Amino acid sequence: MKNHHQIKDGWFFEICPMWPGMGFSLQIEKVLYSGESRFQKIDVYQTRHHGKMLTLDGIIQLTESDEFAYQEMLAHVPLFAHPNPENVLVIGGGDGGILREVCRHDCVKDVDFCEIDEEVIRVSRQFLPTLACGFDDSRINIHIGDGNAFVLGKKKQYDVIIVDSSDPIGPGDVLFKKPFYEGLKAALKPGGIVATQGESIFLHKEWVIHLAKITKELFIKQGYSCIMVPTYPGGNISICLGSLGPELNKPGRQIPDQLQEQLRYYSPEIHEASFILPHFAKKMLEDI
Ligand code: SAM
Repeated sequence: MKNHHQIKDGWFFEICPMWPGMGFSLQIEKVLYSGESRFQKIDVYQTRHHGKMLTLDGIIQLTESDEFAYQEMLAHVPLFAHPNPENVLVIGGGDGGILREVCRHDCVKDVDFCEIDEEVIRVSRQFLPTLACGFDDSRINIHIGDGNAFVLGKKKQYDVIIVDSSDPIGPGDVLFKKPFYEGLKAALKPGGIVATQGESIFLHKEWVIHLAKITKELFIKQGYSCIMVPTYPGGNISICLGSLGPELNKPGRQIPDQLQEQLRYYSPEIHEASFILPHFAKKMLEDI
């Protein structure tokens, strides 16, 4: 089991080979939980200024201060690009944050949720209720297991599939491979959309190119959307999207006023803006 962090003098340091020569640190007040599941080390901290923080194998998965940016964008960009998402699959995301956002959509009738590590769900329910409230909706069917295995054999079942995976250096590794994306495509209904955790355009160029290549090969439309998240490495993370029909880079339907009022990051404007990438990233993705 890997552990990509150190603690010294009240500071948590995240040091990971996926962002070499760089470390991110946050001041912590105490360790609220520390344990090991079959798959990974799970820790929850009370930070000094960023609320509670969940780490897996020492890598920051979320802090309460900015988790809304990631959860809202990974959920609402594909869900608003789709004209009528009724059947949704969420893979990973054991904290519950993506489910919380998906269930804000009244048109969603049914959500399959597949997380490999039951312990992440349990720990999140105990320590992160503002995210784990996502599990409370009766439309959700919880499956415990590997997302890749879950998708195999599913045919034309989902309007939108969201993959909220940890990085490709643990159990999430399989979710960054082409056969998994082939499975996702087969599991989508005609006109379906897939959205996956796409890493950082600054720090993970090889992964970004790898995922963009796969989605370009398999899908009719493909896009990369960039999100600002201060407590992720480099302060940013992206969504890799593939579509079997709808445009990705603008909402395909109107956001109800009462839903917009609940959100802090997503809006129709930021949906469109998130696909406008810095020149180097635009070129990097055009050239593949
Ligand atoms: N975007 C967040 C990040 O990387 O910081 C991800 C947060 S979410 C907690 C990631 C979840 O993916 C974890 O709960 C982990 O257990 C789950 N996961 C990893 N590999 C998986 C797999 N093969 N199948 C299903 N879930 C998986």
